[in-house]
Amino acid sequence: MTQYVVIGDGISGSSAAETLREEDPEADITVITDEGEPLYNRILIKEHAKGKLPEAPISIHDEEWYDEREIELSLNTHVTAVDTDEKIVRTHEGEDISYDKLLVASGGTPTQLPVENSDADGIHHFWTFQDARRIRESAENGEDAVIVGAGLLGIDFAAVCGSQGVDGTYLMRGERWWRYALSNDGAEIMHDGMRSVGVEPVFDSGVDRFEVDDDGHVVAAVDPNGDRYPCDWAGVAIGLTFNTEFLENTDIEQENGIVVDEYMQTNVEDVYAAGDITRFYDVLLGEQAQNGSWGSAKEQGRVAAINMAADDGVEPFQWVSSYSITHFEFPFLSFGHPTLGDEHAEQRYSDTEWRRIAFKDGKIVGGVLIGDLSPQSKFKQLMREQRVVADQADVLLEQSVDLDNLAPAQEQ
Ligand SMILES: Cc1cc2nc3c(=O)[nH]c(=O)nc-3n(C[C@H](O)[C@H](O)[C@H](O)COP(=O)(O)OP(=O)(O)OC[C@H]3O[C@@H](n4cnc5c(N)ncnc54)[C@H](O)[C@@H]3O)c2cc1C
Repeated sequence: MTQYVVIGDGISGSSAAETLREEDPEADITVITDEGEPLYNRILIKEHAKGKLPEAPISIHDEEWYDEREIELSLNTHVTAVDTDEKIVRTHEGEDISYDKLLVASGGTPTQLPVENSDADGIHHFWTFQDARRIRESAENGEDAVIVGAGLLGIDFAAVCGSQGVDGTYLMRGERWWRYALSNDGAEIMHDGMRSVGVEPVFDSGVDRFEVDDDGHVVAAVDPNGDRYPCDWAGVAIGLTFNTEFLENTDIEQENGIVVDEYMQTNVEDVYAAGDITRFYDVLLGEQAQNGSWGSAKEQGRVAAINMAADDGVEPFQWVSSYSITHFEFPFLSFGHPTLGDEHAEQRYSDTEWRRIAFKDGKIVGGVLIGDLSPQSKFKQLMREQRVVADQADVLLEQSVDLDNLAPAQEQ
């Protein structure tokens, strides 16, 4: 009987465990998580922090779900080491768990700002349900907040401020939000969205240090220009540090993430990885890539499990991810790899509508849509078909995209 061990009960680990059970009804399956609760919807915890959702709908599985599938779930259990020669996973309690096949699905932990007082009370990071509960409490009791981190997670803090009536100041390095994927034209729409919910963006800024009161609670952020921003709490979202400490004594290849092929297999036999933590071979892009999104993590978990159970590379991971933001009056969607590519096409259509497409070797590899998301399925289709279309960007930028207006696809 095969023994599978999964480290992490986020969406990638949980979806892998579910698929493993379907593929291998007789197997022993153990899922280990250092969180105190089974899988919940990490995307929805922001709605809880915004004060909108009670706790219940955020949970996805209860412990019974694992019992019913005869999946052993170890909550509050931190993996401290892996021995890939002996095929053992060690926990913080000194327990050794043997595996035949291992899946590392341990995701990341928000990176702390390397500045004075960055661990003060009232400075929040946003990753777990517990974080969301604490943010909600601060937002319900505070009037002013500072936000740091001009990316997809930072903007969730802006949304919390908007919903909870907190005056937010959003300190950004550079001259715009998500400067790697948006031009000034697109970012300006997002900045207007922030202002509409009571959050003021501040550019060419950031945090040089936090100031605290006698109780060690944050009272202000000071930016590199010396400007001081008083606050009752702060939200920091400057990226993830991947949870790989327990792999320190292994030969598993890492490169700011665990390197896997398209079958989610690492360079070490019988060790797989899935979810945010991977640097995977993206068959559509034709190179190694990373992706921090729910749908992609879920699919990677499923694909890893299929290949683990088959004991062979039978199904490659092939996926166009998307990440949407619904905090403002206009929708926002990023798809694929909008920050990559060697060529870009973009257009602004109105005060709330903008589009940008990224191409590599003439093929779409990602993009951002603001205001009108209707072309998304067409762009994703072209990505999956790996069609060379960069020379027809004018068709893709028409307000209403009609793929019939593209020249017939050439043999690649
Ligand atoms: C506030 C917020 C909003 C988001 N919004 C969106 C969105 O709108 N759209 C979207 O697509 N994505 C969104 N995401 C991102 C998405 O949630 C992640 O990409 C996804 O959850 C990653 O899943 P994962 O399974 O790879 O990792 P995780 O969900 O991070 O799960 C990893 C698990 O492993 C555990 N673990 C780590 N180390 C150990 C160890 N040593 N021992 C035991 N357990 C360990 C962790 O505690 C964690 O439970 C959001 C994320 C956050 C935090």
